[in-house]
Amino acid sequence: MEYQEKIRMLAALLKSPGPNFALTGAGVSTESGIPDFRSPGTGLWTKYDPMQVASLSSLRRDPAAFYAVNLPRWQTFEGVQPNDAHLSLARLEKHGYLVGVITQNIDSLHRIAGSRRVWEVHGHLRTCHCMDCERSYPFRELTERAAARGLPRCAACNGVLRPDVVLFEDQMSDDFYKATRALTGCQLLLVAGSSLQVYPAAGLPQYARRVVIINREETPWDEQAVLVIHASTGRVFRDLLAEMNVPEN
Ligand code: NAD
Ligand code: ZN
Repeated sequence: MEYQEKIRMLAALLKSPGPNFALTGAGVSTESGIPDFRSPGTGLWTKYDPMQVASLSSLRRDPAAFYAVNLPRWQTFEGVQPNDAHLSLARLEKHGYLVGVITQNIDSLHRIAGSRRVWEVHGHLRTCHCMDCERSYPFRELTERAAARGLPRCAACNGVLRPDVVLFEDQMSDDFYKATRALTGCQLLLVAGSSLQVYPAAGLPQYARRVVIINREETPWDEQAVLVIHASTGRVFRDLLAEMNVPEN
């Protein structure tokens, strides 16, 4: 099937009776300038071993080393702007074609783009909390305290602060369980920019009647999907919204 024919098919699928949802991964944010984990050459896991730098045990064992790798990476998220994929998903929700977006991303770009219903299954970088007394702070406190004192420590008990993201070995967030429930009866799940390799999030397509994949590379769900578009998410969503005539506002 040719590219434009696939765009027409996706438009038709989104216009058929829902509920329809999107599931997004790091790939929707690469065009905003945030590297993903698994793209060949540029993905972060080509440089680091995830279990060494993004696991709960690595944070507990050596918080200084954990923050030396992760803080500079998270600080690059500041001031980053949503791209056409985020903006299009917000418009599709606003005009009733999608219920909302389930995202593996922690960059808040779906919210900034105007999506109203967002399930952040791996948490977000807006807040952090103390690993000892659980007191909550804005994420900015973590970066400021790390800059001033080396390790970000709690003002109340001197425990180490950690962001409200889901690390390897952490429990899943409430949003993950809420998303699983929200998907009950889902007719169409549009999976965009996810390698579908990080479980349990990668298992969410099983709850949808039909799955569409938009990704530059192959994914484990390609064979079961009703439609697979191997292209960049920015281009696909621009072409899709033009094809569907979704209003700007
Ligand atoms: P991943 O890195 O495993 O996979 C991203 C996929 O997107 C790859 O298959 C890649 O080929 C594809 N891709 C990259 N840019 C694309 C584009 N412009 N258009 C189409 N496809 C594109 O990411 P994942 O599946 O989300 O899993 C990694 C985990 O890393 C996530 O759970 C997330 O929590 C975390 N993460 C988040 C961010 C973020 O918040 N922006 C960034 C890096 C990693
Ligand atoms: Zn504390």
